[in-house]
Amino acid sequence: MVFAYCKRNLYNSNRMISLAHFNSLPQIFRYFKSRLTCLKFIEEQVYPDGVVACPYCGGIHPYRRSDGRFKCRECGSSFSILQGTIFQDTKLPLYKWFGAIYLMSVHSKGISSVQAAIDLGVTQKTAWFMLHKIRTTFRQNTPILDGDVEIDETYVGGRESNKHEDKKVDGTQGRSTKTKTPVFGMLQREGEVSAMKVGNTKADTLMPIIKTCIVKGSIVYTDEAGIYSTLNANGYDRQVVNHNQKEFVVGKSHTNTIEGFWSLFKRTVFGTYHRVSKHYLQRYVDESVFRYNNRYRKGGERFAALMCNALNVVTFEDVRAVVCVA
Ligand SMILES: [Zn+2]
Repeated sequence: MVFAYCKRNLYNSNRMISLAHFNSLPQIFRYFKSRLTCLKFIEEQVYPDGVVACPYCGGIHPYRRSDGRFKCRECGSSFSILQGTIFQDTKLPLYKWFGAIYLMSVHSKGISSVQAAIDLGVTQKTAWFMLHKIRTTFRQNTPILDGDVEIDETYVGGRESNKHEDKKVDGTQGRSTKTKTPVFGMLQREGEVSAMKVGNTKADTLMPIIKTCIVKGSIVYTDEAGIYSTLNANGYDRQVVNHNQKEFVVGKSHTNTIEGFWSLFKRTVFGTYHRVSKHYLQRYVDESVFRYNNRYRKGGERFAALMCNALNVVTFEDVRAVVCVA
């Protein structure tokens, strides 16, 4: 079994215990309690063939110093195997990071920094920083969707009805983006979802995304919105469900699956995190997308998949590619 997100396959690692076998926080804390174990684990994943490459010059003959760092014989730079990973320069024990990644991967609606602080034994501010850093690794390649694909938009932002009279903004109903941020989603039935924050929901914005992410000839299910009216002309078979006329399911024609995803996303954003800034919204979208696309995996397998993301380091990948070519 190879994870879709995983260039290095932690699941089948036979050198150290597979992360997929972990199913509780105490188990992780026990196994990874020493920094050395964590470093060994990371080294095996980052350098699966045992060849440690210098991230500065690509030299493959560094030696290990007594403090665990490496020194390159070619360019003289010293480096840590944590360089380029989300653990770089951290002063926190690595097992707490491993624990945080575990918590983020197993909770179906995310975990608040208040709860993570209690579970990990750190301050809430530290937990907030850790979770945000881990959240940056959720984003992976956008899947290409095919077959039966549902598309829809949702809007994130304060409801006008909940605001104080003098804070209300007129004309913010429905698809207005005056106070709300639109998020566009595409979901292949029985498959993966892809979602992104967009500047607006005009056809000029959404159609290029659709053409990049959905294979032509696919059946695309939408609501009655006019922005999707050119789908057929662009080579798709559009099936419309008319929500305005209280029509929700006509045969296979519905958008219930993607609406289920939005509901999970909103329960995460409003239920667990309460509010998220527009600036970081994409990270929360990516977090929900990761959960949905890994929904059939067990907790430990999701943990392994997320650890892959945390260790998938462009710097090292590039260096290794250079070394392989040479
Ligand atoms: Zn070097």
